[in-house]
Amino acid sequence: METTTCNLCGSPSASYRYTLADYYLQRFAVEATLVQCSLVYQNPRPTLAEMSEHYPPEYPLYQTGKGRQPGRLLQWAYDYGMRKRGRFVTRHKQAGALLDVGCATGVFLDGMRRQGTWELHGVELTPEVAEIARRERALDVFAGTLEEASYPDQSFDVVTLWDVLEHLHDPTATLREIHRILKDDGLLVIRVPNLASWDAQWFGRYWAGLDAPRHLYVFTPQTLAQMLQRAGFNVVDESSAIAGYLVLVLSIHYWMNAARVGETAKRRLLRLLHHPVMRLLSAPIFFWPSRILRGPVLVTTASKKPVKRVTK
Ligand SMILES: [Zn+2]
Repeated sequence: METTTCNLCGSPSASYRYTLADYYLQRFAVEATLVQCSLVYQNPRPTLAEMSEHYPPEYPLYQTGKGRQPGRLLQWAYDYGMRKRGRFVTRHKQAGALLDVGCATGVFLDGMRRQGTWELHGVELTPEVAEIARRERALDVFAGTLEEASYPDQSFDVVTLWDVLEHLHDPTATLREIHRILKDDGLLVIRVPNLASWDAQWFGRYWAGLDAPRHLYVFTPQTLAQMLQRAGFNVVDESSAIAGYLVLVLSIHYWMNAARVGETAKRRLLRLLHHPVMRLLSAPIFFWPSRILRGPVLVTTASKKPVKRVTK
């Protein structure tokens, strides 16, 4: 473990917020401490080397290789989610060199082959996962950190980070590196869990967006915008109308575990909540919070060039 300072303002002092376990992988012996400055972050925290213990092979986000045969409805929901991600890019740019940082098995990059004319690249920290992206999807993926990839200045038109920034040890440094490798008219798209969301307020320590100990930082629209500005970016637009349902279901799951809800009742409710039809029916619940940036997930688009702010 190591101690750190606020990645936004550099202050070493912050107030205590929560002690959490790894609710996602149900490792209750794991202890993670969240503190709050202007930014909410983990302190002390696992070092980069220690962090690999918290991404075991059963970590489900790595299990999206082509070998899996999900149901048709689930596959449709999944593809739909990827198309929605793509639209955050294509409404600004439809061609060029695109880099996905933390690309996992390359699902998003693969989807971009059908949305525009792209030269696709990925960076993935875990070598075995990067290998899946290369082998199953014929993608150009660098295994390691973004900094280790040391791309030349101004290499990319678009850089994306889907659920990645909150996992990094020094997000400000990574954003500065992205600033260096982006072209002058380049675009950066970042998705993070939204600490300012209604469900984050409602579930508190059991909010799935905290995902301790893997999430080292938890952002609000304000703290993400401040960090982007410090790294030299201008915020183009912000949105929270995407991918909120799973965060909600996981939060309910953690809360039920803590409240010691009976196993049978828990299983029945979760089976119901995981049904794709429930997911569709829940869409109206997310409508209003998403409109006012209070949805579970935040997508912020930024550019190097100063731009006129677009508000949806
Ligand atoms: Zn601070």
